[in-house]
Amino acid sequence: FSEHINKLSGIGATAVAVRLAADLDGLSGVILPGGESTTFRKLASAYGLIDPLREFGKLHAVWGTCAGAIALAKHIGSEDPILGLMDITIERNAFGRQVDSFEINLDIPALSTADLDSHRPFHGVFIRSPMIQKTGPGVEILARLPDEKIVAARQQRWLATCFHPELVDDDRLYHLFLNMINAS
Ligand code: GLN
Repeated sequence: FSEHINKLSGIGATAVAVRLAADLDGLSGVILPGGESTTFRKLASAYGLIDPLREFGKLHAVWGTCAGAIALAKHIGSEDPILGLMDITIERNAFGRQVDSFEINLDIPALSTADLDSHRPFHGVFIRSPMIQKTGPGVEILARLPDEKIVAARQQRWLATCFHPELVDDDRLYHLFLNMINAS
């Protein structure tokens, strides 16, 4: 939570932590943070957040990072979806045990269409990350690993990244998300 809030505050956006459905009132976008998607599923159900978040996401911008991307996906391997909004199939812990955490520079061309400096790579921090196995027709692929695995995608107002942008000194994806908020 706090790293995302710091990033958003750092670029001039007002950010609050959402703990209860009522906290969604008046917001124009939501970031679903990383962590453990099973914990996210349990806590969000216990706090009555699943349906309100899904309804919020039908009208507003939602960015899922890592476990948050799992929450956003329509299909999660053999598990039931959590919010089930974005037309992607996601595989949890896709990088196995040996390399379950790694860092790699990513080329994200969409950062340039957001009128941002796209010439430097984006440093992707992957921590027991998922990957996007399949994308539906309306989904734009934003980044792949050198072996072609999809690790970032966008569909209308929904953004999914398999890495942790809150941990690097680079605000460009936050600007991209704010642009998506302004466009939605
Ligand atoms: N491995 C986690 C899961 O499957 C995601 C890890 C993360 O968010 N960094 O839920």
